[in-house]
Amino acid sequence: ISATMMTTPLLLSGVIEHAARCHGETEVVSRRDDGTLHRQTYADTASRARRLARALIELGAAPGDAIGTLAWNGNRHLELYYGVPGAGMVCHTINPRLFAEQIAFIIKDAGDRFLFVDPGFLGLLAGILPDLPALEAVVVMDDHAPAAELAGVRLLAYEEVLAAQTDDAFDWPSFDENAAAGICYTSGTTGNPKGVVYSHRSTILHALSAVQPDVFALSARDTVMPVVPMFHVNAWGMPHAAPMVGAKLVLPGGRLDGASLIELIRGEQVTATAGVPTVWQGLLGHVEAKGGGLAPLDRVVIGGAACPQSMMSRFAALGTRAIHAWGMTETSPLCVASVLTARHRDLGEDEALRLRLKQGRPAFGAELRIVDHAGRALPWDGVTRGMLEVRGPWICAGYLNNPDRTAFSADGWFATGDVATITTDGFMDIVDRTKDVIKSGGEWISSIALENIAIGHPAVREVAAIARPDARWGERPRLIVALREGATLTPGEMAAWFEGKVAKWWIPDDLVIVETLPHTATGKLQKRELRQVYGAERLE
Ligand code: ADP
Repeated sequence: ISATMMTTPLLLSGVIEHAARCHGETEVVSRRDDGTLHRQTYADTASRARRLARALIELGAAPGDAIGTLAWNGNRHLELYYGVPGAGMVCHTINPRLFAEQIAFIIKDAGDRFLFVDPGFLGLLAGILPDLPALEAVVVMDDHAPAAELAGVRLLAYEEVLAAQTDDAFDWPSFDENAAAGICYTSGTTGNPKGVVYSHRSTILHALSAVQPDVFALSARDTVMPVVPMFHVNAWGMPHAAPMVGAKLVLPGGRLDGASLIELIRGEQVTATAGVPTVWQGLLGHVEAKGGGLAPLDRVVIGGAACPQSMMSRFAALGTRAIHAWGMTETSPLCVASVLTARHRDLGEDEALRLRLKQGRPAFGAELRIVDHAGRALPWDGVTRGMLEVRGPWICAGYLNNPDRTAFSADGWFATGDVATITTDGFMDIVDRTKDVIKSGGEWISSIALENIAIGHPAVREVAAIARPDARWGERPRLIVALREGATLTPGEMAAWFEGKVAKWWIPDDLVIVETLPHTATGKLQKRELRQVYGAERLE
C-alpha cells in the first residue's frame, strides 16, 4: 500500500506567504541605526521579499547561488531570509564579529557573488575587498548608497533596488524541500570556520519544533524579540517561527544594551525573547538599578553558553521565566529546552531549580545519546558522563567544501564535542566542552560548574575557569575574574565562597584578576586565548 497524501514541499516562501495571508496586519518592528523604529506588516514583508526575489534574478543571481549578508536584526534582513531562499538561492548570514581574514575566507568558501551589508559594516568590508575578486555587487541596506566608492565592485542601495521593482507579483518557484536555504559558519576557535548548509526542510522542521509549548511556546498572541543576532545560527529560528504562528516580531538592530532592550520590551510589549547569557547581564543590571521591572516579558530563552543559577533567580525575582536551552550551529541550533513536566509538579523549589538549570530535554526530532571513548552508549542515570552525540532531521550530516568526518560516527550521529549527563527522563546536563574540562588527578572538574558558582559572588562581574598545569595533579582549576566596580577579591575569599558548594578537591586555589575577559564572535568566553595567556604558558 502506498500513502495517499500530498507531498507538498516544505519551502520557506510558504512561511512568509502564510503570515501575509493569515496575519497580514501583524507588525514587524525594527530598530534602525539612528535609534528610530521602523514599522511594517507581514503583508509588507512578503511583498518586499517578492520584490527582492525579482531584483536578485534581474541582477543575475541563479538558483543555488549563495547571497551573503552582513547585518543586524532588522526588516531588510528578514526580507533576505525569505526572498533569497524563496527564489532558490542560499542565504549566507555572515557573523561580522569574526576576524577579517575569517570573513574573507567564508565569503570565498560559500562563493558569495552578492553581499547585502548594513552601512555600519562597509568599513569592515572595504578592508577585505582585495581578497574577494569574485564579488560582483554590494547592496547597502539603506535608502541610498553612500557617496564613497568601494574599489572594484558595484555599489547599490537596497531601497533603490526594491523600488525599481514596481510589480510585487512573483510566483515563488516550487522545488525539492531538501534544497539549500541557508548557510551558517561555526565560529571556528581552531582552524578555518566550517559551513553548515541548512535545507528548506530542516529549517521548517526546526521552526515547527521551536514554537512548541515546551520550547519557545510561540503563538499569535505573542510579541517575540530575537536578541540573538540573525547572523548567529538564524537567531535560533525565531525569524522563521514568528511568522509561522503570526507572532509580532521586534528586531532590535545593533543596540543590545540594557536601556535599549528594556525600552523595546515595554514600548512594544515583548512577551518572549532569547539570547546568550552575556547580553542578559546588561539587561538585568540595568533593570535592577533603575527599577520598573521587566513586564510584560513572560519568558526568556537562554542558550549558547550555560545559564548560571544567579541569572535564573534574578529573572524569577522580576517575574520572568528563564528557559535554559542548548544547541549549536550544526544542530540548527535548538535540540533541548529545560521545561518541567507533570511528573515534576511536586518537586521542592530547590530541586525544580536544579532541574531547570540543566540544558533540558529533547524536543521530538532531536535524538540524543552519550557514549564512551569506544563509542558505546552510556546509561541515562543523571550521573554517568559521556560524550554527547545527536541525530535528527535538523542536524548536519557534513560540512560545506570540507571532507572532515571526525565529528560524524559511522552509524549516523553527530559528535558535539560536549560532555554531558542525561537523566532517566531525558534532561541533559552539559558538564563541559571536551576541550575545556579540567583534568585533575585523573578526574574531571567542570569549568562550567565552577563559573556558575563563582558568578554568584557579589564581587564578580565575569569569570572563566581554565586549567593551569600542576606538577602533582596534572591540572588544577584557575579562575580568571573581572570584578564589579570598586570590588576586591582574594583567593581565600573565593575559596571560602566555594566551601560546601562543590567537592573539596574542586575548589579553585588560584585566582587571576583582569580588567575584561575576551569573547568569541558569538559572545562566549574565549577560553582558548585565556589558556594561552594564563594556562599552558605558566607551565613550571
Ligand atoms: P561556537 O562555539 O562556534 O559559537 P556554537 O554557537 O555552535 O559554536 O556553540 C555550540 C556550543 O556552545 C555547544 O557545543 C556548547 O558547548 C555550547 N553551548 C550552547 N548552549 C549551551 C548551554 N545552554 N550551556 C552550556 N553550553 C552551551
